[in-house]
Amino acid sequence: MFEKILIANRGEIACRIIRSARALGIATVAVYSEADAGAQHVLMADEAVLIGPPAVARSYLDAQRILDAARQTGAQAIHPGYGFLSENPAFVDAVQAAGLVFIGPSADSIRAMGLKDEAKRRMQAAGVAVVPGYHGAAQDVDTLAAEAARIGFPVLIKARAGGGGKGMRRVERAEDFAAALAGAQREGQSSFGDPACLIEKYVTSPRHIEIQVFGDQQGNVVYLFERDCSLQRRHQKVIEEAPAPGMTPAMRSAMGEAAVRAARAIDYVGAGTIEFIVDGSDGLREDRFYFMEMNTRLQVEHPVTEAITGQDLVAWQLRVAAGEPLPMQQHELAIDGWAFEARLYAENVDKGFLPATGQLTHLRFPAAVRIDSGVVQGDRITPYYDPMIAKVIVHGPTRAAALNQLAWALGQTEVSGSVTNLAFLERLCRHPGFARGEVDTGLIARDLGWLTEKPALAPMALPVAALAVHGLLVAATDDPPADPWQQADGWSLWAPHRQQVRFVHEGELVQAQVSTLAAGRHEVRIGDGPGVTLRVRFLPDGGWRVDDGQGQQTVRVLMTRETVTLFIGERVLVIGRVDPLAVSTDEATATDQLVSPMPGLIKMVAAGAGDAVSKGQVLVVLEAMKMEHSLTASRDGEIAEVMVGVGTQVEEGHVVLALKPLPETK
Ligand code: ADP
Ligand code: ADP
Ligand code: MG
Repeated sequence: MFEKILIANRGEIACRIIRSARALGIATVAVYSEADAGAQHVLMADEAVLIGPPAVARSYLDAQRILDAARQTGAQAIHPGYGFLSENPAFVDAVQAAGLVFIGPSADSIRAMGLKDEAKRRMQAAGVAVVPGYHGAAQDVDTLAAEAARIGFPVLIKARAGGGGKGMRRVERAEDFAAALAGAQREGQSSFGDPACLIEKYVTSPRHIEIQVFGDQQGNVVYLFERDCSLQRRHQKVIEEAPAPGMTPAMRSAMGEAAVRAARAIDYVGAGTIEFIVDGSDGLREDRFYFMEMNTRLQVEHPVTEAITGQDLVAWQLRVAAGEPLPMQQHELAIDGWAFEARLYAENVDKGFLPATGQLTHLRFPAAVRIDSGVVQGDRITPYYDPMIAKVIVHGPTRAAALNQLAWALGQTEVSGSVTNLAFLERLCRHPGFARGEVDTGLIARDLGWLTEKPALAPMALPVAALAVHGLLVAATDDPPADPWQQADGWSLWAPHRQQVRFVHEGELVQAQVSTLAAGRHEVRIGDGPGVTLRVRFLPDGGWRVDDGQGQQTVRVLMTRETVTLFIGERVLVIGRVDPLAVSTDEATATDQLVSPMPGLIKMVAAGAGDAVSKGQVLVVLEAMKMEHSLTASRDGEIAEVMVGVGTQVEEGHVVLALKPLPETK
């Protein structure tokens, strides 16, 4: 076995690999870019080597720098993880030329599967069914259009060098073909440097079911059953599970044996995945699965296979690369229970799943499930790399139990400092069709409206926000006071007094009145609404139990200088704190200045000096934390001065605009 390996990757997968290496007594070397100096994979590894600036081309994709780091530290082998250099045959050659072991397949195996068209030709020759289509050499639009017509619409055009869901176009009608082909070719060229495309029949009711295979240097190949990755958004996986719902033993062995045949055909060594597209229009049938592509590396979703087989696939990779035979034979492998994995990303679901960045001011996962993550609280999601925060992995005795556990685990997960897809994932877990196991790759797109619907705001949400902004729910998560009733509720200080509280919620300025009636009992009035009485009680785990007279909810509060984040029911509320100095009991004097509630970028200024404005009118739009916030006029008046323009970067408390009374009312 190796004594020391280098991991040519970052984030969760680098951390994951370090864990298994350590369990086998192998020392680890991390490599990192300047943006990752404080990253978890760097801190976890025994040694770490800086390999360049943040841009991947000059760090994680720089083969020479990585080989230098291996030489310098005396690492004997390199684990590539997934992405980056993991499927780059030239890198494998370079690793071997440097006298090191590549923890993965041979360069020839990778080459054989690198281009989708060539891979399909080979698989066909090996007796593995492929999706009907055209994967020949001709690339002119006339030939390809004629082939598309022969195959029959709808068809899928794929860049042969594509990956990660890029370079694909679905075409429904002949008249749209030429434009779609041009688009796929362009994307193939710009993303992968290869414009060539193949055409496939678009499989109806498509399900993505893939088989984990493993080969060793002695020529043994086994399969570790299937994963269903049909829950996809734009051809990218969102939630994966193992085994596949509705799988029969006959179909499983047919697919497993086809996958082993495919791996044997290219003398495959190490972990690999054969992806099949399955026509699920008539249930799972042995004559309706087709080879799509092979990923010649560890897959992002490998943990669900680990969960149901009880095996450590990274440990298998290390053993096989060191020359040991596979730890188990086919007949020794069995499926235990059901597993799911959800990919938690920093992304803005409301804005078309736009990747987001930010410092994770708070990050909390339930202890009972497996979390594969490369970040901890306080770390930053940077724009340079994949915005994945974590993979949440659950395992239960049955599919229903595991899915319940996933929903629960996501519900227990708290992230602040960036927007995430957490609420979307939670909703997906409650999708009735998904719960019944009726999955196909179109499910998410079909029900996107429902899946991205905002859960209703609990009636107590804004009153609770007012208490939090007013400092009555002191940030308790990290340093809870020992006595539940000892929190600073302010009652003895200003008890009978009505306090004005202002904050920004979803771009709107909210005015509230808070009066403390007794210890832990407050009356809150939002705007001109009726007063609600809230009883609050501190919980030992750092949250608050709030009773509004109708029911109770647990609320967790996180305060930063600019914002208060509330986790309440299914919702995360990010509240902008208005400069406390601007808070006044007398509205008329307090609102001449429009103040930015948080640091951000001015996106729009809707009025100029001299304009008359009315209460509630949007005057300025601020982009902060990847979200837009409208700053509105707090009363009728005339604009005296505008201090910012579009593109101005403002700090919290920055005065963006001044109002003066309307001339005629003076
Ligand atoms: P998987 O089935 O493992 O998600 P994909 O083919 O979707 O496989 O992507 C392979 C992996 O390559 C992804 O997990 C991702 O980490 C990485 N990857 C995909 N696209 C890119 C990219 N543009 N830049 C860097 N890494 C990428
Ligand atoms: P990538 O290399 O980008 O992962 P794949 O060939 O694996 O590309 O396809 C990605 C996804 O596109 C699949 O998981 C599936 O959802 C969909 N897909 C691919 N081929 C077909 C097809 N012939 N019919 C229907 N859907 C397909
Ligand atoms: Mg794929």
